[in-house]
Amino acid sequence: MLMVEEGYDIAIIGSGIVGLFISYMLCGMHRKRLKTICIDKEHSVALHASGRNSGVIHSGIHAKPGTLKARLCVKGNRMMYSILDALKIPYRRDGMLIVCTDDNRDALEELQRRGYANGVANIRFVYGDEVRRMERYAKADTALLVESAGVTDSSRLAYALYEHARAYGIEFIFNSAVVRIDEVLNGYRIEMVEDDGEDAKESSKSKTITARLVVNSAGTHADDIAILAGLRKYRIYPCIGEYYLIRRKPYLVNSLIYPAPTFDYRGIGIHLTKRLDGTIAIGPNAIYVDEKDEDNAKVKDVVDKSIDEFYSRASEMIDGISKDDLEYGYYGIRARLAGYGSKEEPDFVIEEHPTNFIHLIGIESPGFTASPAIAEHLTGMIRDRL
Ligand SMILES: Cc1cc2nc3c(=O)[nH]c(=O)nc-3n(C[C@H](O)[C@H](O)[C@H](O)COP(=O)(O)OP(=O)(O)OC[C@H]3O[C@@H](n4cnc5c(N)ncnc54)[C@H](O)[C@@H]3O)c2cc1C
Repeated sequence: MLMVEEGYDIAIIGSGIVGLFISYMLCGMHRKRLKTICIDKEHSVALHASGRNSGVIHSGIHAKPGTLKARLCVKGNRMMYSILDALKIPYRRDGMLIVCTDDNRDALEELQRRGYANGVANIRFVYGDEVRRMERYAKADTALLVESAGVTDSSRLAYALYEHARAYGIEFIFNSAVVRIDEVLNGYRIEMVEDDGEDAKESSKSKTITARLVVNSAGTHADDIAILAGLRKYRIYPCIGEYYLIRRKPYLVNSLIYPAPTFDYRGIGIHLTKRLDGTIAIGPNAIYVDEKDEDNAKVKDVVDKSIDEFYSRASEMIDGISKDDLEYGYYGIRARLAGYGSKEEPDFVIEEHPTNFIHLIGIESPGFTASPAIAEHLTGMIRDRL
């Protein structure tokens, strides 16, 4: 048993995109001698939702006005492009087309209203030839175009943030699962179990650190970390989202083609994303499971069973595909704060409990887009407290 206890000003639990953006934005503060550590149970960064999503930079039109999701997504969208420029990460910003596939014009008008209420610029209806000039294979005569949406590679961005933060002296510790938290004088003691892989039982060691302020950005496990800190009112309902890919007909989609939403929290629907590498991703679906990690055997048993659903959703939106074009892609697990059948979409939770322990819970889509704005909000809270 290795017992080393090092003291930090700030400990961030989770090196997904949210923890990484917070680390990135703390670089300036770190220089002013705030010693910071980012802890992850995995061997590297962004191995869960942050590296397994659509990579879509959302505009903020889907979120309910007045929510944190709406505010942080719209702000995150603007911040994201300038940070991608600064870090020289490629992206496309050629907008999202939301198509009327079943005369669902009311839903598009509601989206447009939400967009205006959320402060999203450049939303307009496009018709006929204009739709076809943008997306030749789209099966729609009417679509809502949102120009500020785009796509990037979330894993690549995550790694760039990590490298930047590390270069500025933020410490990272991997293979270390946080298992216990105690309040101590002037902060928290955090106990981690170090898991070096292979034979976990043989090689696991425990390590403790202390920190004056802790951020919980543990994704699907954020509710478990909250319980360790005495905050018991939240529960994450893990929900798988899978993707199929089309590699051999990249010309079928130019940008982002989405269905009209149903506003009932079944998700914003299986959509088509032209990724930066030219492949077309179809997804994600939504399957509730009990397990929270993608490499869990029970999760692996559930996936790759529903090609028909993907084929049929994609062929409602575009012409030119056959089922043989689809190959299985990948999946990620959403950190949902509401279970199967729930019709209310919960908001992001940013809550302090106890003092100087800040929890980020339910950061599901558009959490990737919102992450720079979440991080800016968090660094403001940290500045006020330390
Ligand atoms: C299928 C899918 C598609 C999506 N598409 C989009 C999209 O197109 N656009 C968009 O804006 N958003 C999208 N999202 C949402 C977005 O991916 C998430 O909101 C975002 O990645 C959440 O980041 P995070 O850092 O909070 O969580 P995560 O990426 O899950 O990171 C949490 C980290 O905490 C670590 N951790 C957990 N427990 C512990 C512990 N006990 N000790 C130490 N470390 C721990 C984990 O190992 C992990 O690295 C999608 C999500 C999914 C699942």
